[in-house]
Amino acid sequence: MELRFGEKEEALRGEVRSFLTEHLPQGQGATDGFVDDFDFANAFNAKLAERGWIAPAWPTQYGGLAASIYEQMVFAEEFGYHGAPDTGTRGFGVGMIGPTLIIHGSDEQKARYLPKITSGEHVWCQGYSEPGSGSDLASLQTRAVRDGDDYVINGSKIWTSGGHHADHMFTLVRTDADAPKHKGISFLLIDDIKNTPGLEVRPLINMAGHHHFNEVFFEDVRVPVANRVGEEHRGWYVGMTLLDYERSGIGTTAAQRRILEGLTADLREGAPEQRARHRTALADLVIANNVAKYLGYRIGHIQASGQVPNYEASVVKTFQSELGQRIHNWGVNYLGLGGQLTPSEPRAPLDGDFPEGYLLAVPSTIYSGSSEIQRNIIAQRGLGLPRS
Ligand SMILES: Cc1cc2nc3c(=O)[nH]c(=O)nc-3n(C[C@H](O)[C@H](O)[C@H](O)COP(=O)(O)OP(=O)(O)OC[C@H]3O[C@@H](n4cnc5c(N)ncnc54)[C@H](O)[C@@H]3O)c2cc1C
Repeated sequence: MELRFGEKEEALRGEVRSFLTEHLPQGQGATDGFVDDFDFANAFNAKLAERGWIAPAWPTQYGGLAASIYEQMVFAEEFGYHGAPDTGTRGFGVGMIGPTLIIHGSDEQKARYLPKITSGEHVWCQGYSEPGSGSDLASLQTRAVRDGDDYVINGSKIWTSGGHHADHMFTLVRTDADAPKHKGISFLLIDDIKNTPGLEVRPLINMAGHHHFNEVFFEDVRVPVANRVGEEHRGWYVGMTLLDYERSGIGTTAAQRRILEGLTADLREGAPEQRARHRTALADLVIANNVAKYLGYRIGHIQASGQVPNYEASVVKTFQSELGQRIHNWGVNYLGLGGQLTPSEPRAPLDGDFPEGYLLAVPSTIYSGSSEIQRNIIAQRGLGLPRS
């Protein structure tokens, strides 16, 4: 077995790396993907679009480069390591709605939406979760009632990341209240959400003080029937397609590697007794992050072999998100009082990224399926244990 990228991928890595070094501010580290500076992220995506790098793995007919899974992994690693910002174009556009439309969308929908994703023009958000429906998403209550050529939507969504920046939303709504819960749901695309009558986006501020996600309220919001993806009442299966695009988590592991490199550089400069006290704990975290890396490569390898990852992706997600919390927990303790200084303070160690990184690591075990849900998946699909 040979475990390394080929020459082609390494050449691409060099190209991507020098692009990122040139176009991202020095010291930029990964935080929560969405930067507060939307205009910067938007301009950055426009530069990626010029190179066909918004969705390199997509077929060329949709604006991609038909890059291989391994090339895609190189992009993910370098973007993660360098903290490449996003607006919702790559995460929700390329990562979720794009592949879903490629499989389930009409020709008209593909022609209309896919090129605007690869050009970086459309910014998408995901309207799935509701106040009472997160892990049990199929219990969602937002109603859409057919009225001529439109659906009329009433209800609300919550935790809508980037909803205040987005111009498009994909959402799951209940179109048949009498059917069993998975069978009465439809998948809709909402255009121009900033100017849609009856649709209101209200901010939610996260515990790091960022406006990352939102509540979204629908009051008699009209959406053309032509914006439904797939059959009426069969939207659950469309909506789950995008969850099949399981993440390898390679970008996050690379971001964590960068954080560990920062901590290692800091410890190297420390007093001998400090080094003696902390070295083995830091080494443990580095070992664990390497494990996360290879678990992620395994997902890539499964995809490259033409198979769909299943519980393997839950293993990575759980291990990596919990490791991110361990790294930050260890980091704040290691850095001590100085570790609480924020970037505005010149004496802050490691650019003052730690307090915020610590807070932003907390929700990583909730979103994209909580650790408990991932463990249920591993128990059932990986270990063959019955549902409890
Ligand atoms: C930062 C962030 C960004 C997000 N962005 C979006 C977004 O853009 N769009 C969107 O639609 N949603 C988004 N979400 C919502 C996210 O998908 C939900 O928070 C998640 O699915 C959990 O749902 P919940 O918050 O309703 O918690 P609940 O489902 O109510 O869970 C509460 C607790 O109970 C546990 N639990 C629930 N069911 C089980 C079970 N069967 N077995 C064992 N334990 C269980 C959970 O693990 C959790 O600890 C985001 C969330 C966060 C934190």
